[in-house]
Amino acid sequence: MSGPGAYPVPVPDRATAGLAAARRELTADCSRCVGLCCVVPGFVASADFAVDKPAGTPCRHLRADARCGIHDDLRGRGFPGCVVFDCFGAGQQLTQVTLAGHDPRADPATATLFPVLRQVGELRWHLAEALARLPAGPLRDEVAAAEARARQLGGAAPAEIAAVDTAGLRRDVGDLLGRVSEAVRAGVPGRARDRRNADLVGAALRGARLRGAGLRGACLIGADLRDADLRQADLLGADLRGADLRGADLGGALFLTQPQLEAARGDAATRLPDWLRRPAHWVGAPGRRRRSPLDRQPR
Ligand code: SF4
Repeated sequence: MSGPGAYPVPVPDRATAGLAAARRELTADCSRCVGLCCVVPGFVASADFAVDKPAGTPCRHLRADARCGIHDDLRGRGFPGCVVFDCFGAGQQLTQVTLAGHDPRADPATATLFPVLRQVGELRWHLAEALARLPAGPLRDEVAAAEARARQLGGAAPAEIAAVDTAGLRRDVGDLLGRVSEAVRAGVPGRARDRRNADLVGAALRGARLRGAGLRGACLIGADLRDADLRQADLLGADLRGADLRGADLGGALFLTQPQLEAARGDAATRLPDWLRRPAHWVGAPGRRRRSPLDRQPR
């Protein structure tokens, strides 16, 4: 939880309410999907996914009812990548809206549409946050237009979705989010230096003062970030796999996602932005059951 005054610019209640509403729509709802994330992608056996799986074929652990047969022990069975995956609502959108009336598992368009919708959903997730952070003005207007365009794409017909230039869309939205980040972090007192795209694998950053730092795209795999001050740091696309966030302060961190947190380690003392939840596997996390994007327990 970020404390009072965590943002350099005020975040009006109306804007945060809008953020919550937008993100509800972009939160994976496996009960309205048919297990697309367990069918569409292909995997080569790795530390994240224990077996080879060709694209377009159901995972061997996917049950007939579209639930994961090893959901309660994904990490123990060698599938941590499944725990951290998030479709940003693409599964239910494709199943319920885009291809409504068809079984998306049998529709050849699914292989193309699912990854596009996932990327559009992720960009919308970040644009919603940008809207919540910015005061009225030209930059906010620009973000609002980009968000409206992305929202329109998310609800578009299959042919329009298939034609999306995802690389171009990511580049354009990424540039815009970069300007938002600069505007927001400009007011951070004692702002730390930027380390954009830095190789910080296994870095010893315990207690580091990284407040307001630009860590966009930084590779922080296995980094020791215990007790680090990451308030208002820009973590867009930062790789936090295995990073130790115990006791770290991420209050107001920009563009941080739930999958990033799920891939990291932390504890009850780790402070998080208000809109993210503490992963259940973190030390001392509340004992409630995890709601992972691949949570396919019986309804
Ligand atoms: S969540 Fe379960 S069924 Fe889905 S891909 Fe992972 S292991 Fe397979």
